[in-house]
Amino acid sequence: MTNLVLESEVLNNVLENKSISRQEIIDIYQNSIKNSNELFLTAQKLRITNKNYSVTFSKKAFFNIVNLCKDTCSYCTYKAEPGENKISLMSKQQIKELLHLAKKYKCVEALFVTGEQPEQKYSEARNWLKENGFKSTAEYLMHSSEIALELGLFPHTNAGNLNFEEMKELKKTNVSMGIMLENVSERLTKKGMPHYLAASKKPQTRLKVLENSGKLKIPMTTGILIGIGETIEEIIDSILAIKKIHKKYGNIQEIILQNFQPKPDTIMKDSPSANEEYFKKIVALSRIIMPEMNIQIPPNLSPRSYQSFLQVGINDWGGISPLTPDFVNPEFSWPEINKIEDDSKKQVLILNVDFQYTQNFFLL
Ligand code: SF4
Repeated sequence: MTNLVLESEVLNNVLENKSISRQEIIDIYQNSIKNSNELFLTAQKLRITNKNYSVTFSKKAFFNIVNLCKDTCSYCTYKAEPGENKISLMSKQQIKELLHLAKKYKCVEALFVTGEQPEQKYSEARNWLKENGFKSTAEYLMHSSEIALELGLFPHTNAGNLNFEEMKELKKTNVSMGIMLENVSERLTKKGMPHYLAASKKPQTRLKVLENSGKLKIPMTTGILIGIGETIEEIIDSILAIKKIHKKYGNIQEIILQNFQPKPDTIMKDSPSANEEYFKKIVALSRIIMPEMNIQIPPNLSPRSYQSFLQVGINDWGGISPLTPDFVNPEFSWPEINKIEDDSKKQVLILNVDFQYTQNFFLL
């Protein structure tokens, strides 16, 4: 039998809900280099079977609580250094004001983002916490989450490697939390690689946070970053690692597949963006590996083509803000929600189906 015939058999097995091995996933990818039609078609069928014709999003406000960070990832433009114009150290008053504004804009989610444990490295962060009456960033987040909830917004915290106790406290107010796995590759943490200066991106550290979220039954968003010098095996292993945690705890609410875009003033500024065809294959493989999962791409990072990803397996646009920038990718503004809706519907017309929107919150 040829490789292509074997691939068809494996993809048919996936459609029949049969399990698939790591090697078979690698083979599907290798065959898709010549022709990706069957892979994309299977991913689309699985999306329709498991998610009907709906795509979800969450109307949010992005709270850039503190962007000092003790680590340095080679691609990051979010992190600020003391004295830089872009530094953000939100006061309690600023947080409250933005919460009120978010409410006016009918946002449902308050996304709280911070750099990695900034108080461990910067006196500026320690002083800022002290001025606001807190000892740690995590404590400040607990307070901010309480205020958000009181004002009728759902807090969703993404603050890097929080420990078990911090997560347990945050669970009391946060409807869900997030941490990007990025990739399970140790190789990407070695000298010259994107996570070399980021101890918090060690795969075992990140997996521990996901494990803890599972033990605490916290609905969790995680994901991988695509196009940072990884191999396809490393991508597949990363998706399989997320699948393993979800199988054990059932608490992964969605997987973000984020395509790398080079940023000025970063070590990786001259690296190419993730190739779109490669990115689509990874989206489709993710749907095949986890047919029932919510799979998301950020529409602002593929501004000209995001809607076409509906045909290769995604069912979620993630958080979109009518109010605040994407502080992690400030060069890429979010499209208007109306435009995303129109573009999605046009795409769906090709598929000849209806479309519906829901807010993307899941409580275990
Ligand atoms: S990606 Fe996160 S951990 Fe890495 S430097 Fe930026 S803020 Fe810090």
